[in-house]
Amino acid sequence: MRGQVNCKLIGGPQGDLELTLSTIACKERISLMGDVWVAQGLNGGVLIMKGSIPPSAPWLTYIRDIYEKVKLDKPGLITYQFVCTEEVNRCEKILEGKDRRCRNEAVQDERFCKTHIKNI
Ligand SMILES: [Zn+2]
Repeated sequence: MRGQVNCKLIGGPQGDLELTLSTIACKERISLMGDVWVAQGLNGGVLIMKGSIPPSAPWLTYIRDIYEKVKLDKPGLITYQFVCTEEVNRCEKILEGKDRRCRNEAVQDERFCKTHIKNI
């Protein structure tokens, strides 16, 4: 299909995968979300969730697998090699007047996102 390319993701914890992606999505480095994530529960508890994260979900953490482009096998096929798994934490900033946390992901090994890390 025009503007689409077949991609093979190899060596990852979810096994080898074949996906069709739009050409513009095929960056040097792509990430694949795991299907387990952690959400804020009531009374300070947490919930372990499965599936994709709804846009307004009170998510706290999710795991994603990072892949890097290895070579162009032939036109229309791109191979990605698994690099690592990283944990993504949500920015801890509570937005004023909104009573919820910022939806951005925190910078790796930090508690806040790129925007809020400057204002601590
Ligand atoms: Zn933030």
